[in-house]
Amino acid sequence: MKKAIIIGSGISGIASALRLVAKGYDVEILEKSYRSGGKISEFTVDGFRFDMGPSLFTLPALVDELFSLFGKSSTDYLNVHQLDVTCQYFFADGSVLKAWSDTQRFVSEAIRLGADRKTIERYLNRQSFLYHYTSDFFLFSSIHKLSSYFGVSARKSLKALHRLDAFTSMHKRNNSTFGNSPLVQLFDRYATYNGSDPYRAPATLNMIAHLEHNTGAFFPTNGMYGIVKALERLALEQGVRFHYNTTVSGLRFNKKKITSVESSVGNFPADVVLSSIDVAYFYRSVLPEKKMLKRIEKRERSSSALIFYWGVSCQSSLDLHNILFSADYMAEFDALFQKKHFGNDLTVYIFISNKVVQSDAPEGCENWFVMVNAPENVGQDWAAETAKARSVILSKISSHLGIDVEKHIVNERIVTPVDIEANTGSVNGSLYGHSSNGALAAFLRHPNYSRHYKNLYFAGGSVHPGGGIPLCLASAKIATQLIK
Ligand SMILES: Cc1cc2nc3c(=O)[nH]c(=O)nc-3n(C[C@H](O)[C@H](O)[C@H](O)COP(=O)(O)OP(=O)(O)OC[C@H]3O[C@@H](n4cnc5c(N)ncnc54)[C@H](O)[C@@H]3O)c2cc1C
Repeated sequence: MKKAIIIGSGISGIASALRLVAKGYDVEILEKSYRSGGKISEFTVDGFRFDMGPSLFTLPALVDELFSLFGKSSTDYLNVHQLDVTCQYFFADGSVLKAWSDTQRFVSEAIRLGADRKTIERYLNRQSFLYHYTSDFFLFSSIHKLSSYFGVSARKSLKALHRLDAFTSMHKRNNSTFGNSPLVQLFDRYATYNGSDPYRAPATLNMIAHLEHNTGAFFPTNGMYGIVKALERLALEQGVRFHYNTTVSGLRFNKKKITSVESSVGNFPADVVLSSIDVAYFYRSVLPEKKMLKRIEKRERSSSALIFYWGVSCQSSLDLHNILFSADYMAEFDALFQKKHFGNDLTVYIFISNKVVQSDAPEGCENWFVMVNAPENVGQDWAAETAKARSVILSKISSHLGIDVEKHIVNERIVTPVDIEANTGSVNGSLYGHSSNGALAAFLRHPNYSRHYKNLYFAGGSVHPGGGIPLCLASAKIATQLIK
């Protein structure tokens, strides 16, 4: 049996392992942490369980696909259900919108906020059009391989190229569609799903909203970490070996072929190596290649996050996912990407998993995951930044919801961009590798294979097609399809 070594056990690492086992490889995963999941993580304190990273789950079919590789049903490992309300939005002017997954109910809400029926329906259809004309090629194939350009999916995307909105920004398109309506801010927000700036990211990315508004948002009945547990269980059953507390530090090669992987616990011989760790970190610490690193480091990193995990001793009228928007979105992104500090007003995301998983908090309490977009870590004074953000967040919650939440916080944990970098190896704490702020961003991401070593491949949020659970799963599929 040929041997494959996977570096990192984030979602793309486990998915890649499963796909390689299905191809007949003997697979081992080397993971620096004591457990799997990477950014998808959890912790428990005083009866409160918190999902630490992702909270929004779309395209669960990509997870199901991994089970069907082995003739299994995902429902025997993981239960997910579709949300009726994908998110509740609170705008600075006091208006509130419930984003129902039912399209007609959402349309009615949008009309209430100033859109006319035809405009919002046309807009949702347009997102669907963008997704269907781009996804097969841009999300599910290796756009860095010349051969991909001769396939049906490339022809489909390239034929519609002039209609894909690549040369205008998300904000410009949304603004020209909805004028003064708060819906502009609602749809601009999807740029943050890959750590980008809606004032610079290409309007093609308006297709991200398609996943929530047309195909739906989902949630596992045992929380987000349930996805990792289910995939890890499947991988163990299929014979994948996980080596925890094992940090990969180098690669040995013979001419252009990797022969083994060096780690803190010794060498692992390999026929194929797949790295699922941040690619900038990979070229810094695993395979130091100055030229490649320079090229990668020149590119703008995605945003990071500052997260407060609060156990609160009260019950709110909030939903599972809630957004409290800032009054000046442009200033917020300018501060994030140009000044690299928090602005004076922030958009606050509150995720309360015990709205669905009741056991996630003690009776009468809630587990609040409160997150703001943060600049990448470039050495800011994070104690000062955190104190500033905390005070903005508390006053925003109190003005929008009328809750003096600080009085009810019974336990608190804080994760800054520095912690994200330390915990997951994501350079500068960026959540999604590089930003997508530019028409060519998709092409500039690192490919899923090495151009120098013939048995070295890449998956994960920092390489093609990008970050977020669905795209990480897509990266695993593309990378392993390239392995003969
Ligand atoms: C706060 C937060 C909120 C998010 N929200 C969402 C959301 O709502 N929806 C969504 O879809 N996505 C979201 N994301 C993004 C999503 O979590 C990531 O894109 C995805 O989980 C990244 O997976 P990955 O496979 O790239 O690997 P990672 O999760 O980055 O894992 C990499 C793994 O490699 C290991 N590693 C690193 N270096 C080494 C080494 N030298 N040797 C061995 N192992 C190593 C790390 O320990 C880690 O386990 C969020 C992320 C964060 C942090």
